[in-house]
Amino acid sequence: MQIVSATSAGSEKPNEDFAVCGPDWAVLLDGATAPPGVDSGCIHGVPWLVRRLAVAIAAGLSLTDAALADVLAAAISDTCEAHAGTCDLANPDSPSSTVAIVRTRGGGLDYLVLGDSQVALRRGGEILPVHDDRADRLPGGRPYSLGLVRQLRNKPGGFWVASTVPEAAHEALSGSARGVTEAVLATDGVTRLLDWYGDGWPDLFSVLSEHGGPSALIGRVREAEERRPPAHGKRHDDATVIYATSVSGAWQPSR
Ligand SMILES: [Zn+2]
Repeated sequence: MQIVSATSAGSEKPNEDFAVCGPDWAVLLDGATAPPGVDSGCIHGVPWLVRRLAVAIAAGLSLTDAALADVLAAAISDTCEAHAGTCDLANPDSPSSTVAIVRTRGGGLDYLVLGDSQVALRRGGEILPVHDDRADRLPGGRPYSLGLVRQLRNKPGGFWVASTVPEAAHEALSGSARGVTEAVLATDGVTRLLDWYGDGWPDLFSVLSEHGGPSALIGRVREAEERRPPAHGKRHDDATVIYATSVSGAWQPSR
């Protein structure tokens, strides 16, 4: 597998996205920015949580052959242990993150998506997007109240993120696909090209494969934001993309 990536902070604040790759796997996380004035009960903050989780996932992928959901569940447990003594892990606003993972195994590509970072797999002209959109479909529609988000975070019928509940890992979208030649992992700072700026996955693959790669794709996001600022949300979000090529196997999506 050949892997390239790029990241760009959306502001002067520390980048809350994080990408880490190994010889046959790639991991992407996007920490949830805490709403202003909310006490998360954690003295560490979002960038710490994201990096701590990423390192634990990387260790699991490097040292074990466990299923991706089990690797993630163990990483969430490890991260909880790392701050259980100093922080209130029962706080419903404890820092959280999305997680997207791909790994080649047994001739196929395993994938896992938890939260709104997206994965897309390509075999020839066929594209399989993997998108966990449960947070877009909470009762009552947007804008969500803080209370509603607290009530439905990591709860059945709500939405799932990597935070203080290891079981969330088993609620992720996951499966294995054969015949994949390319894979993309992107945070929502990049996939706003799909959501708000009219691009499709073929456009994103085209930029990644033929027109400059990951940095050029992030440049495309920033240009679109300058031309027409988003109708809501941050003008520029942290944006990170991983592009893997030379992925092998035959096509067999399982979920
Ligand atoms: Zn903490």
